[in-house]
Amino acid sequence: MSVYEPSRGETDYRIEFGWVPDANGVGWVFRSRDADDYYAVRLRLIKPGTKLVLAAEHFSVLKGEEGVHSRKVIPLVNNSGLVQVRMDAIGTSFTLSLQDAPVDTWTDARLDAGALGFYQENGQRPAVQALHFTFTGKTMADVANKYAENVPGKFYVDDQCIDCDLCRETAPANFKRNDDGGHSYVYKQPETPEEEGLCKEAMEGCPVEAIGNDGE
Ligand code: SF4
Repeated sequence: MSVYEPSRGETDYRIEFGWVPDANGVGWVFRSRDADDYYAVRLRLIKPGTKLVLAAEHFSVLKGEEGVHSRKVIPLVNNSGLVQVRMDAIGTSFTLSLQDAPVDTWTDARLDAGALGFYQENGQRPAVQALHFTFTGKTMADVANKYAENVPGKFYVDDQCIDCDLCRETAPANFKRNDDGGHSYVYKQPETPEEEGLCKEAMEGCPVEAIGNDGE
């Protein structure tokens, strides 16, 4: 395992890189306290081609004990050969995105801080390109940074959105995805007490506090 030392005390971050799918796969660790305590994600190539199939799995290692692997098979249309990979670790929420679309979201509260890095199987270095780390702090939604597509009214989504899908699942009558930008926005303000309650629930559940209710 090789970790990025300056990230050791960090809690919330985004890791982004390009990966040309190969038989070796690519694995990375996050919230790593030491070699016995960390979370990990691995992408493997199941079927190559322009309609490729990947397997994404995530698991934890705590006190040296490897936990159950949660695995998801992901079909992907890919004409360029390069797959854009992104993972956001914010609070207890983790979102894996491929080609700017979320493909897996999960929560885990056991490790709250620790380093980011890569791990290798069979001694193979992962072939990643344009690696980028972003360290983020959770700040309240700011009406000055709201997306232009939000309809006027008190609820809005600002530019901290990590496209985790939670608000769209919680309040589907009010939140939609901007597919080009890869983020949520409010496309209808709540019109009933039920919708208002669901919008508040989405706002409280948003892992990066990208939803505000102080709009005009
Ligand atoms: S606004 Fe928040 S809850 Fe909705 S998709 Fe963005 S990050 Fe997720």
